[in-house]
Amino acid sequence: MSAPDAIPDFFDEGRPMAVLTTQPLDRPLDYRAPEGGAWLGALVEVPLGPRRVLGVVWGAAESDLPLAKLRPAIRVLDAAPLRAELRSFLMRAADYTMTPLPAMLRLATRAPGLGDGPAMRKLLRRGDTLPPRMTDARARVLAAFDDFGGAALAPGELAAAAGVGPGVVRGLVEAGALVECDTPRDGPLPRLDPARPGPVLNPEQAAAAAALRASVTGGAYGTTLLKGVTGSGKTEAYLEAVAECLARGRQALVLLPEIALTAEFLTRVEARFGARPGEWHSGVTQAERRRLWRMVGQGGAQLVVGARSALFLPFQDLGLIVVDEEHDGSYKQEEGVLYNARDMAVLRASHAGAHVVLASATPSLESWANADSGKYARLDLPARFGESVLPDMRAVDLRAEELPPGRWISPTLVGAVQERVAAGEQALLFLNRRGYAPLTVCRACGHQIGCDDCDARMVEHRFLNRLMCHQCGATKPMPETCPSCGAADRLAAVGPGVERLAEEAAAVFPDARVMVLSSDLFASARALKAHVAAIAAGECDIIIGTQLVAKGHNFPNLTLVGVIDADLGLQGSDLRAAERCFQLVRQVAGRAGRAGQPGLALVQTSQPDHPVIRAILSGDDEGFWRAEAQARRAAAMPPYGRLAGIILSAPGQEEAFDLGRALAAGAAPLHAIGAEVWGPAPAPIARIRGRHRVRLLVKAPRGARLQPALRQWLAPHRLTGDLRLSVDIDPQTF
Ligand code: ADP
Ligand code: ZN
Repeated sequence: MSAPDAIPDFFDEGRPMAVLTTQPLDRPLDYRAPEGGAWLGALVEVPLGPRRVLGVVWGAAESDLPLAKLRPAIRVLDAAPLRAELRSFLMRAADYTMTPLPAMLRLATRAPGLGDGPAMRKLLRRGDTLPPRMTDARARVLAAFDDFGGAALAPGELAAAAGVGPGVVRGLVEAGALVECDTPRDGPLPRLDPARPGPVLNPEQAAAAAALRASVTGGAYGTTLLKGVTGSGKTEAYLEAVAECLARGRQALVLLPEIALTAEFLTRVEARFGARPGEWHSGVTQAERRRLWRMVGQGGAQLVVGARSALFLPFQDLGLIVVDEEHDGSYKQEEGVLYNARDMAVLRASHAGAHVVLASATPSLESWANADSGKYARLDLPARFGESVLPDMRAVDLRAEELPPGRWISPTLVGAVQERVAAGEQALLFLNRRGYAPLTVCRACGHQIGCDDCDARMVEHRFLNRLMCHQCGATKPMPETCPSCGAADRLAAVGPGVERLAEEAAAVFPDARVMVLSSDLFASARALKAHVAAIAAGECDIIIGTQLVAKGHNFPNLTLVGVIDADLGLQGSDLRAAERCFQLVRQVAGRAGRAGQPGLALVQTSQPDHPVIRAILSGDDEGFWRAEAQARRAAAMPPYGRLAGIILSAPGQEEAFDLGRALAAGAAPLHAIGAEVWGPAPAPIARIRGRHRVRLLVKAPRGARLQPALRQWLAPHRLTGDLRLSVDIDPQTF
């Protein structure tokens, strides 16, 4: 049976077909179909020069080369094909984000490798271990893993893919750069039972759940913003939508912003549906990911819980995508392919005929505006579930409190913590700064210790006993003497980080048990999970945390939240600063008081009259968004205008600036759509890993066809030398 639009959906053996590989080529290549033929969308292994690479059957052959000139594809991999829905989503996503299609395809084919089958010995790369002696052949073998998404490969496959003899592969095993593993045969995933009864919902939850169930029942694309205060039971409400979706035999995907949250969530799903769903994120082994990838494609995985990259899984019939904590900044992928998972979820759902639920206590202004204009449906859960009430929020005016130098916990906050701890409850002190001190200064010459490769200060980490760059991750030992003037013993820590705050807490509350929760202190998601469990079990009195704690951990005994420096988020010229500060402080404050214990949030600030601080304290969310929306509309900024960032990077700043100036001077295609160009100016991250970064911002009216104009504008410019250009559609910082 062939489709009416003349693209066959099956290519008989020997027939010409186009294959898109994940190699950086600008279009698909033509091959002859392998033995047994190939379905449209099938994953195939094809020869490319001396190598073998992974590709996807993309359509009818494009060249009119005689059949004899085409090389045959080697074989079909027995993974599920990429269906039309996923292929068209990838094309649209590549188009929107201005990413080359092969790079987009790579996101969708990271798990499958060359062939599966019964358990057999295969090889894996061992981390970044390099062999002591590197040769071209060895480098090709290591590179071959990237071509197959890091999947385990049999020694023979690996040698063939790299175009080397078996001895080279053996040599790498002996050198420790490759390890052997047993790849298991696929077993079925446990079945989730959507008919199991959920908890008894309160009237608000029941109304929201009914509306969500109805949206899923329709089987058509739509988006709902589910806005509910922390602890209102949003999760219970959207799990009803998941139940409806599964009951209809369709698949569901829940995206979470933080791996650390998945463990708690999986347990909850297991309690609700009687089995654990599929889990997809960087902490899952490659073998498990491969298995889940195939199960998703075969329809054997009903529900997947994962990080943003789960959006690119080959679902057979995706009926629902939930984006939990949809406002979270980590949904924006800032390296490699630049995309916002929240927006891509909406795009994928529109291709799949799925419903999207965006859940948050503090939605992004984009989603709020889409609900406000009626583009998205909106459901509200205004009250906490059960006896639990929202915390009382109060400002602590730092101008009126006596704080000696080196102290950040105000007398008012100290008193409140003492009271809570004495009552056997927990307190959280929130400071969004990792490390001991954000700045190390020489008291003799004023020199500030910076990163050698970035325009960033080095942050002291006492737990590690090193200085660290938070931009590139480089570390160095704390110097004994000033690197600039050589003075000894004059280096001083300036300002607080969570480690320093923990020191202060230990001094001020000598009898309390203090625990620090900061992402850099945990080597693994497991270690973090253990800490979170210990806190929940009451093994500490005072939690000191960075934004990690804002992301939805439930600590039932936590009744006091102290925000150490609410003004921190208001600094900077970023137009989104107000929105971010509002979201973060509200999320953190929302951790206080659950399960019937009333909570209190004390917000330390030197600007209690600042409109954002006032909005945070008053609880007038709608007022805050309306004011924000008005300001953005007046400036024609997103979501009332469109932005694109063009980042130019080079080892030397001048090269990047030269191209930036040339681009700015030749912006006629942009002016034609009513867009303006700002810059070139140093990018928000002006230097990283030894590369200078320069940014141009393109600002276009809301309805403008931005991407075609950008393509036309950029096309005549050739990148020479080590100059790189990347386009960031809808940048996060502006
Ligand atoms: P949110 O996602 O809005 O923060 P949750 O769904 O996590 O809220 O609910 C907060 C707490 O209340 C959780 O411990 C949850 O188990 C409990 N809860 C919510 N709704 C119900 C319900 N209908 N019955 C029993 N417990 C509930
Ligand atoms: Zn650095």
